Amino acid sequence: MSLTVDDILGSHGRIAARLPGYEERPEQIQMARSVASAVANHQHLVVEAGTGVGKSFAYLVPSILAVTADESSPPDDAEAKGRERPLRVVISTHTISLQEQLLTKDLPLLNSVIPREFTAVLVKGRGNYLSRRRLMAAVERGGSLFSSEEEMRQLRTLDEWSRKTHDGSRSDLLYRPVQDVWEEVASDNSNCMGRKCPQHGACFYY
Ligand code: SF4
Repeated sequence: MSLTVDDILGSHGRIAARLPGYEERPEQIQMARSVASAVANHQHLVVEAGTGVGKSFAYLVPSILAVTADESSPPDDAEAKGRERPLRVVISTHTISLQEQLLTKDLPLLNSVIPREFTAVLVKGRGNYLSRRRLMAAVERGGSLFSSEEEMRQLRTLDEWSRKTHDGSRSDLLYRPVQDVWEEVASDNSNCMGRKCPQHGACFYY
């Protein structure tokens, strides 16, 4: 099925059919059309849009339609058929909280209204993940690494958390660790042993 951003975001679109009281936002549609055009023509696009425009949907909808376009392309669409699958879109956000909003709120809604299959995963910068090997080393050397009792207490708490956390990322902690402690146990490119690491199989980053 051929779909446009208007089919999803417009006043008679699929989101409007799902959400009572939904109102089309002209600036959002304009931005979404511009993103769709830039993707289709392999162009760069810079957009400045104020609060309330609905920027997230304005880039998510055309991106999803672009990566799932092959599903609906006619059999003789050689360009679409020749593209390598699966296609991916990388969305880089300024904050992790916006990423989490996209993943837990916006994308589930779009997944429920766009009649095409797509998946999404959250990827954070390396320094957001705990390194099991560095944590073990820090626990062994704790007394010589940290001078304050609070830092030692946090290290012990991180050790306990590492056995329970789902993804080992800092945002999974219920508190914000002291920076010096976190830096000692975070995944770090210059300290990583990669495949030679005994913890590689259980590594949160890999
Ligand atoms: S593979 Fe690298 S990041 Fe992962 S636990 Fe080992 S040293 Fe740490």
